Amino acid sequence: MSFTLAIVGRPNVGKSTLFNRLVGKRLALVDNQPGVTRDLREGEARLGDLRFTVIDTAGLEDATDDSLQGRMRRLTERAVDMADVCLFLIDARAGVTPVDEMFADILRKRSAHVFVAANKSEGFAADAGVIEAFGLGLGEPIRLSAEHGEGMNDLYSALMPLADQFTKRTESEAPETDVSLDEEDDTGIRKPTKSKPLQVAVVGRPNAGKSTLINKILGEDRLLTGPEAGITRDAISLQMDWDGLPVRIFDTAGMRKKAKVQDKVEKLSVSDGLRAVKFAEVVVVLLDAAIPFEQQDLRIADLAEREGRAVVVAVNKWDIENEKQQKLRDLKEAFDRLLPQLRGAPLITVSAKTGRGLDRLRAAVEKAYDVWNRRVTTAQLNRWLTGMLEAHPPPAPGGRRIKLRYMTQAKTRPPGFVVMCSHPDKMAESYSRYLVNGLREDFDMPGTPIRLTMRSQS
Ligand code: GDP
Ligand code: GDP
Repeated sequence: MSFTLAIVGRPNVGKSTLFNRLVGKRLALVDNQPGVTRDLREGEARLGDLRFTVIDTAGLEDATDDSLQGRMRRLTERAVDMADVCLFLIDARAGVTPVDEMFADILRKRSAHVFVAANKSEGFAADAGVIEAFGLGLGEPIRLSAEHGEGMNDLYSALMPLADQFTKRTESEAPETDVSLDEEDDTGIRKPTKSKPLQVAVVGRPNAGKSTLINKILGEDRLLTGPEAGITRDAISLQMDWDGLPVRIFDTAGMRKKAKVQDKVEKLSVSDGLRAVKFAEVVVVLLDAAIPFEQQDLRIADLAEREGRAVVVAVNKWDIENEKQQKLRDLKEAFDRLLPQLRGAPLITVSAKTGRGLDRLRAAVEKAYDVWNRRVTTAQLNRWLTGMLEAHPPPAPGGRRIKLRYMTQAKTRPPGFVVMCSHPDKMAESYSRYLVNGLREDFDMPGTPIRLTMRSQS
């Protein structure tokens, strides 16, 4: 059993072209299946050694303008509900449009696994569009050219771990689902019956205590733990109630066995973590107090930041620390020095074994999630920007001062801001950093990456 991928996006971005490339002639008609609209096509895709089902939301071109948005939305929602994974296509040449933003919103709310692909990426003309696609907060965009068959390797690399995961999932007992698929509203669209659980990944080196931590939260010994690295079963996700907070926790232990055998521990742990990070809204980086901030820890924390996830750092096995005060000072110092990109992320000391500190960890996770979703009004931002400019005027390269005209928050998850200015290309990194740090402090946004883009008004 494999997985189902839905290709979604507005008309003309290249969905059918990609569908045809993946499916070739292996096309199945879906319109004779109950509950499936004629606008959806389904086919058996081949990509390298992967076999999966692909759904295409084509057939919208003939829609009249005023009905188009509604139909696109309904169709997309239906495809998303039918699929395990969504591939959200944008046109890299056109950049991110308001309709794309609408799609991104649907996907964030409805789909657990989303990849963004910037199609029509052949050649340089597409670079700006690819960068804009980053701003959707759905992870790093895959550069594709469906027409020329470019980027198919990257698509393969993105999907391959999922194929693993879905195969494993069906082999072991099916996990409980958070969405009931048999309840339909009057429009025939499936609706989630519960509020979506917060998606948390617990990442860290083997033996950091990930399984112990998850067990403690779960309140029963559902995961195997032990002193040997690699004893835990495959990577799984579990939905649970963490003192009133519904969460789905991704554990990433599964790759460790392979890692040991192949003696590529570091490399595999990172790709393993990558998978969990992709699924997560909040990433808990679990460190072992005895050996914190090792290379692997740093890489995974950096990855979480680059992927735009909310991050909480938890230092485990605090029960066996003697010099707690001194140790905490050392940890904070090391954190600021080694992970400056995560400045402001909470550092929580815990004992997965005794349960001490887990209530603080829970609070930090919830807060990081809220901050990640926060929206600051344009009025507030511009008042703030005026103050920042007065306190510390922007640089004047070649004697001409760069003018920062106004700013707005373009997105959330994580928060992304756009500053309209003259000569954005000449703006010094250090000034952007000054603004980002200021935003973080003045609007109380710890534990979340903040994106800031300078743009010229044109
Ligand atoms: P859909 O409406 O999203 O299914 O889009 P189509 O697959 O019908 O493609 C829309 C247009 O974009 C067609 O003219 C395609 O030939 C073109 N197109 C699709 N993929 C690419 C690509 O990778 N590069 C370029 N330059 N054009 C493409
Ligand atoms: P994982 O590989 O990250 O899933 O780590 P495990 O949960 O399997 O834990 C590895 C080892 O560390 C086991 O022997 C645990 O009992 C031990 N351990 C985990 N958490 C704690 C803790 O908070 N305190 C102490 N003293 N030991 C712990």
